[in-house]
Amino acid sequence: MSPALRAAKTPKAKHDLNGVENLIRAALKKHQTPFMLVRRAVLKRQYQRFRKCLPEVAPYYAIKANAHPGIIKTFVKLGSSFDVASSGEIKKVLRLGATPGKIIFANTIKSTADIEIARHRRVRLMTFDNEPELYKIAKHYPRAHVLVRIKVENTGSQVELSLKFGADPEQGYLLLKKAKALGLVPMGVSFHVGSQSKNVENYLQALEVTAKIFDEARENGLPLKMVDIGGGFPIQHFDNEIGINFERMAAQIRKQMKALFGRKTKFIAEPGRFFAGPSAILVTQVVGRTFRNNKNYYYINDGIYGDFSGMVFDHCRYEFKTLRRGQKFLSTIAGPTCDSLDTLSLNEEIAELYVGDVVYVKNIGAYSCASAVPDFNGFSPAKIVLI
Ligand SMILES: *Cc1c(COP(=O)(O)O)cnc(C)c1O
Repeated sequence: MSPALRAAKTPKAKHDLNGVENLIRAALKKHQTPFMLVRRAVLKRQYQRFRKCLPEVAPYYAIKANAHPGIIKTFVKLGSSFDVASSGEIKKVLRLGATPGKIIFANTIKSTADIEIARHRRVRLMTFDNEPELYKIAKHYPRAHVLVRIKVENTGSQVELSLKFGADPEQGYLLLKKAKALGLVPMGVSFHVGSQSKNVENYLQALEVTAKIFDEARENGLPLKMVDIGGGFPIQHFDNEIGINFERMAAQIRKQMKALFGRKTKFIAEPGRFFAGPSAILVTQVVGRTFRNNKNYYYINDGIYGDFSGMVFDHCRYEFKTLRRGQKFLSTIAGPTCDSLDTLSLNEEIAELYVGDVVYVKNIGAYSCASAVPDFNGFSPAKIVLI
């Protein structure tokens, strides 16, 4: 038996399974499917894991992963800071209790209107990766604090984020020098290694490249203060998935930070998936079944246009589970809309299901409801229930 399988059969795994299924059964008495249970205790657990493993790094929750007000409020209470990408997101986190000093405007391309709003709301810290953006910021938000986002390796990440953003690292120092000449406050360097980055080397190399920019800047009389290590911290989407170990990864990142930077350097990060992903369980029901292509086909009441939108935008795959035990058969699971694209899995090994039976998915809190289309074909995404 593989170590992963053995782990899945330990009493702890069994206890967790019963815990999750009991939560689902209790919630079914109160809510109609589809619904997404978001466990505040898990949001807190993820936040605390991050703080414990990377105590020198201040986390800015990237709300694009899941901007549900209850989730943002939970992170406000825990003391988190926030990563936003638009004035809409700025207004939202402020309304929910975040303070301007705990926000980074981490979109390297901002409209002038959005920069003005950042200034009015005193959200001073922002990223950029090109000179035209610097002129814009200097004109609309004099003395803003800026981090240059550099392009770094995204090897092995589930979602590439360096195709569209990031300056050539060789330009890093020059861009910060230009920022200073324009009256802005050059703070340091930011990067993103790509989302669901299972490869710690991406972070270690990016820190090395960043340290070179810090050295060059210091030698030229422009000392830098801040390193933004971005997001990308991976989570397990499947129970038996191996090769994801945040604790080990964080230890290596921490060691690299200590080796390359002075004690006064301020570190921040922008976790999205890591904070929101594990908290949510999506609960759906079978609305129809048939036998096609020698297989059971089950149609459930949430799909690609709803909370499984991450299968398109996030290149994500999920583990489908049911409350039924017994012999398993190769089955297809599809969403409710009139589109063949809305097929969720062609090869699930699951017990035979009947109309009304529950199909649920764990670890689906990030990049799921956030990118769902409301009302396509008249179907609504799941109701979000914070517990
Ligand atoms: C999407 C994004 C994040 C969050 O990334 P995760 O992989 O979910 O941690 C952080 N920073 C920026 C700039 C992003 O675009």
